[in-house]
Amino acid sequence: MKIDLTEAMSVDHNEWHTEVPLEMDSISFVQGSFPVEEASPVNVDIFHVKDGRMQIKESARIRVAIPCDRCLRPISQEFVLEAEREVNLSGEERPAYIEGTYLDVDRLIFHELLLHWPSKILCREDCKGICPVCGADLNQGECGCDKQVLDPRMAAIQDIFNKFQSGS
Ligand SMILES: [Zn+2]
Ligand SMILES: [Zn+2]
Repeated sequence: MKIDLTEAMSVDHNEWHTEVPLEMDSISFVQGSFPVEEASPVNVDIFHVKDGRMQIKESARIRVAIPCDRCLRPISQEFVLEAEREVNLSGEERPAYIEGTYLDVDRLIFHELLLHWPSKILCREDCKGICPVCGADLNQGECGCDKQVLDPRMAAIQDIFNKFQSGS
C-alpha cells in the first residue's frame, strides 16, 4: 500500500495518522521466500516538520513462517516492529521506500523485517535436525542409519600414516 504524502507536506507541522493493510504475502530476499502468515494493519504516524522533512513512525505485528535451521520444519516467527525515521522529500537522497511523494509501506516494512531477521532459527534449542543419510526428522526418533563420518582431524592423521607407509 502506498500513501500519498502530498497533502501532509502542504502545511508545516502537519500531523496525521493512518492505518493501512500490509499487502505482501511473502518476504523474499537472498535467503529465500518466506510466507507471511498473519499481519496486523500497519500504523503509520506522519509528521511534517518543515520543507519536506517528514518524521515517519510505523508499527505492526507480523508472523512469518521460517524453516528451522536444522530440521527445516516451518516455525511461526513473530516480529513486533516499531520504528521511527526522518526523511527529506525535497532532498536528493531518498530511501527506496519513498517513490516521488509516495510512501511505500510494504517496502518500509520489508526493510524493517530484514533488520530484525533472526540470524539463527531453531524449532527448539536441542533440535536434533535431519539425518544426513536418509533425511528423516531425528526429533521423531532414530532412523537407524549409520551416521559415522570420519572426523576431519582423524582423516589428517590417516594421511600422514599412509604417507609414512608408502615411504618405507
Ligand atoms: Zn528443528
Ligand atoms: Zn537416516
